[in-house]
Amino acid sequence: MSTDYRSTVFLPNTDFPMKAKLPQREPEILARWKKLDMYRLLRQAARGRVPFILHDGPPYANGNIHTGTAMNKILKDVVARSQQMLGRDANYVPGWDCHGLPIEWQIEQKYRKAGRDKDAVDIVEFRAECRAFAKHWIVVQSAEFQRLGVVGDWDNPYLTMTAAAEAQIAREIAKFAMNGGLYKGSKPVMWSVVEKTALAEAEIEYHDHSSTTIHVRFPIVESSLPALAGAAVVIWTTTPWTIAGNRGVAYGKGFDYAVIEVLEAADGSLAQPGERLLLAADLVAETCREAGITERREIARLAGADLAGTVCAHPLRGRGYEFDVPLLAADHVTLEAGTGLVHIAPGHGAEDYVAGVAFGLEVPETVGGDGLYFPHVPLFAGQHVFKANDSVADCLTEAGALLARGKLVHSYPHSWRSKAPLIFRNTPQWFISMATNDLRAKALAAIEELRWVPEGGRNRMRAMVEQRPDWVISRQRAWGVPIAVFTHKESGELLRDQAVFDRIAEAFEAGGSDVWYTADPQSFLGDDYDAADYDKVEDIVDVWFESGSTHAFVLEARDDLSSPAALYLEGTDQHRGWFQSSLLESCGTRGAAPYDAVLTHGFVLDGKGRKMSKSLGNTVEPQTLIDQYGADILRIWVVSSDYSEDVRISDEIMRYQADSYRRLRNSLRFLLGNLNGFTEDERLSADEMPELERWVLHRLTEIDDEVRKACNDFDFSAMFAALHNFCALDLSAFYFDIRKDSLYCDPLDTPRRRAARTVLDTLFNCLTAWLAPILVFTAEEAWLNRFPSDGDSVHLQLFPEIPAAWRNDALGKKWRAVRRLRRVVTGALEVERKAKRIGSSLQADPTVHADADYIGALSGIDLAEVVITSSATLSEGPPADGAFTLDDVTGVAVVAGLAQGEKCDRCWKLLPEVGDAGLCERCVQAVAAPGRPAAG
Ligand SMILES: [Zn+2]
Repeated sequence: MSTDYRSTVFLPNTDFPMKAKLPQREPEILARWKKLDMYRLLRQAARGRVPFILHDGPPYANGNIHTGTAMNKILKDVVARSQQMLGRDANYVPGWDCHGLPIEWQIEQKYRKAGRDKDAVDIVEFRAECRAFAKHWIVVQSAEFQRLGVVGDWDNPYLTMTAAAEAQIAREIAKFAMNGGLYKGSKPVMWSVVEKTALAEAEIEYHDHSSTTIHVRFPIVESSLPALAGAAVVIWTTTPWTIAGNRGVAYGKGFDYAVIEVLEAADGSLAQPGERLLLAADLVAETCREAGITERREIARLAGADLAGTVCAHPLRGRGYEFDVPLLAADHVTLEAGTGLVHIAPGHGAEDYVAGVAFGLEVPETVGGDGLYFPHVPLFAGQHVFKANDSVADCLTEAGALLARGKLVHSYPHSWRSKAPLIFRNTPQWFISMATNDLRAKALAAIEELRWVPEGGRNRMRAMVEQRPDWVISRQRAWGVPIAVFTHKESGELLRDQAVFDRIAEAFEAGGSDVWYTADPQSFLGDDYDAADYDKVEDIVDVWFESGSTHAFVLEARDDLSSPAALYLEGTDQHRGWFQSSLLESCGTRGAAPYDAVLTHGFVLDGKGRKMSKSLGNTVEPQTLIDQYGADILRIWVVSSDYSEDVRISDEIMRYQADSYRRLRNSLRFLLGNLNGFTEDERLSADEMPELERWVLHRLTEIDDEVRKACNDFDFSAMFAALHNFCALDLSAFYFDIRKDSLYCDPLDTPRRRAARTVLDTLFNCLTAWLAPILVFTAEEAWLNRFPSDGDSVHLQLFPEIPAAWRNDALGKKWRAVRRLRRVVTGALEVERKAKRIGSSLQADPTVHADADYIGALSGIDLAEVVITSSATLSEGPPADGAFTLDDVTGVAVVAGLAQGEKCDRCWKLLPEVGDAGLCERCVQAVAAPGRPAAG
């Protein structure tokens, strides 16, 4: 009959629950932070420290946040919090992008559904509706971001639609006006005839589109080459409607061209036997096949360069298109498709425009903003370009110019919003020149000096800035900041007068940019100019210019921030978006980048690696994940992902992260349970501790290095892996496992137990601090559990300073060997347990045969303690037959034996010393010792 000693064992005691219940607990912690005003406390705590400014790229205020936005905000929060805990003042001010087409589109849709005509609504009223729409979503998104645990100045965020922001944006435009960078040009721009606006690069998507293709004859009217007399040039185009804007034909200087005579044509072919056609030699066979030319002969072969000076008639000559069409050498001609001869419509393509300008061709305006041909366009006036292809082909047929027609499915630009196909259209627009004031050169120089994480961002950005055309900053829309400038009615000259710009900015500052539409223009022009002589520009500025100016109206304008920012952090698509617009805006007005470093992350895909989309039905909403798992698990998902690439999310992935979380929570719970009642009197210095404790302290110096390096490299997956593996492998499966016996059963004042508790105390302080930027809620919960407080928080702590003296590489090496040997013993005992020869490891008495290196490594170490057996024997030399070995650990073999003696009723070790009372000597002492707190 044994005595029940359970009440004398010092079992862990904590009310820190094993079950996290994060979906319920996190909102309580959030409420506490709100009450404490955690953001202000963080600012006070960091007063006077070196600032670290992560400048928030503004999300767009038009819907609930999605997983991608959640990942972005969590990453920013982990960066800011870790920098703060590294000793910086990491002030994070969130912001929102409020203007722009998507919101305007929503309001227009609403009008359409209600049968209202948008153009009949007063612009200020319309803008007020857009403003209210943006405001609504800012409130919604702010709550969603805060629920993720993101700390920042949520009470005072920046918005691109405040009067102060709009005034500064107007000042930035004025800077470009004054320094000559802003100019009014006429260029073909990507134009949406549905939204009636020019679109930026970032607003364009490519989708397959079925186009009518035509082969067209251009009769040669002038040439020095006899072979071309009476022949026609053949071009091929996928946009027949652009024929009305044709002013030239391009050829490749280095290609060979053939003049062929048609001998026979198939039934229904538009080719005429006897006619002569000029086209690239390599494309003759393909073109003849498409045109139904069944027999031909080659009359002559010409070098591309010989075509210079050749002139054609427009194929619709005699029908209003009387001009000559010269053949011109251009680099954009290829032999991939078509005829090697490309028709040039300078108003309807980027390359066409460049070629047109280079050769002094007219850049005609043929198509209006609504997609209709202007009234002055012969044959097609008033027709919509998307419906004109057939009528163009018919007119060409009547004129005898059409050689063939067909269909082609190809990748074609579409509006990202309306999904409607786009056209290149020649329009008057406002541009920022990449050449003026060496803007391109300045931006390229800045790119070389900045830090890019990952480094590949530098090349990507360089390539984009090297190639980009001038920046089209005008939009023919209503919801945005006006390009608040005047042009002279007669000369068209831009009015450059700082006093005028200052008056405009002051008016915006006082009343917002609506005043551009409501105030008398004379009030801006002052006494020096007569409003009757000037046109007020009605365009608004590209939203990318607005967000590209946040460094001016946020970083420079706020007393608690400054420019340049330490870091801009967004998805990789922002190389062509915000990173670039900010760089160009700042280089154009200040000559330098507004940031020191750029960090990019990938996009969120579903579990199978597919893009998420509503139509696929594979979207995962952050709110759903928070309700099911909690924000801390979502944060683990973010930091443990390789976010330099696209990252996946699925239920399976989240369950895996929840397992990681449970291991970390259990480690914290173990610490809290075994630190119950810990007092400073118990504390031992490192040199008074057993080697095992000193090894843990040594590991802390290594983890500290890893954590600090990972934070400064923004490599949080490395940081999380280091912390998780430390908790799971070094602590739970090793240190805690070994020390449970001492913590539970040693007399209270034994040095071994005191050393262990001292180390647990250090571990607790380190782990709660290191995990705080990631597990913002759980670290706080654990920390408050140990240090209850009304006004303090783990987030107000710094990462602990780990004494350098704890570093002991020799000890690290020695214990790596000990742990290798231990793995063999554990393996041997597992075999015994499976064979039911033992129950617990305390029933075993293994004999470990090891080579001299291991014997050396184990000097001074209690082998039985480390392998958690009642006793153990170490023996140098070759193993006995049948000993247990592991393939990857040479020099260690284990023979598992059975422990001798009686089982101690208190600690369950089998020891010969256990006497009649059923206790080992240690347990006798422990039970008799005074001052023992009641075990829980
Ligand atoms: Zn005992």
